[in-house]
Amino acid sequence: MSRADDRDAMVRRLRQRGVIGRDSTADALRAVPRHEFVPLESRESAYEDRPLRIGAGQTISAPHMVAKMTDLLALSPGDRVLEIGTGCGYHAAVTGEVVAPSTVYSVEFEPTLAESARERFADLAYDVQVRVGDGHEGWPEHAPYDCAYLTCAPAELPDAVIKQVRPGGVVVGPVGTGRQTLVRVRRLADGSLERETHGAVRFVPMRE
Ligand code: SAH
Repeated sequence: MSRADDRDAMVRRLRQRGVIGRDSTADALRAVPRHEFVPLESRESAYEDRPLRIGAGQTISAPHMVAKMTDLLALSPGDRVLEIGTGCGYHAAVTGEVVAPSTVYSVEFEPTLAESARERFADLAYDVQVRVGDGHEGWPEHAPYDCAYLTCAPAELPDAVIKQVRPGGVVVGPVGTGRQTLVRVRRLADGSLERETHGAVRFVPMRE
């Protein structure tokens, strides 16, 4: 089987489990070559539904979690998105597929991960810009965003990230030290926040 066949099979399995809701999410998971984002020794496992180690003590999320978050963001082509935690860049590439021709903006704490993600985005022609820094500050220069998401878990969703999203926009991310919950916050026009939870999750902690 080719890698594309492996991806089709992965998406079929995720759909059978009811994990993927939106067609645009399924299309994006079918399109992004996850094996190009993982270390060589993990390539054969790239289309299994599990997290994989990507170096620097970090992991790439399992495909079902990327799918779930992409569905929760309800992205459309042209949306401006902020990601906190670039890691190997897989999740940003999936987002990029859905929002194309828009640029994805991503903040990564670890310089070595940021650099290798940048190289991958260039090689695979993904329009993702990466800033090395602390995601607690978001990326104010490109705000306002239609939405934002985090792939590392803070104790609470950072205020700066919420404020950089336009009224009506959402922020999705794992929240909690120890036990974590996937949270979606919508910023309402009057400045208040509407908060929903979407189950227990396990992400790497967000560094302070
Ligand atoms: N979306 C990634 C998953 C990366 S794991 C992927 O598809 O590979 C979470 C990432 O968050 C790690 O790369 C980690 O270095 C980064 N991270 C942790 N704390 C951070 C912080 N304070 N600011 C920005 N990135 C952070």
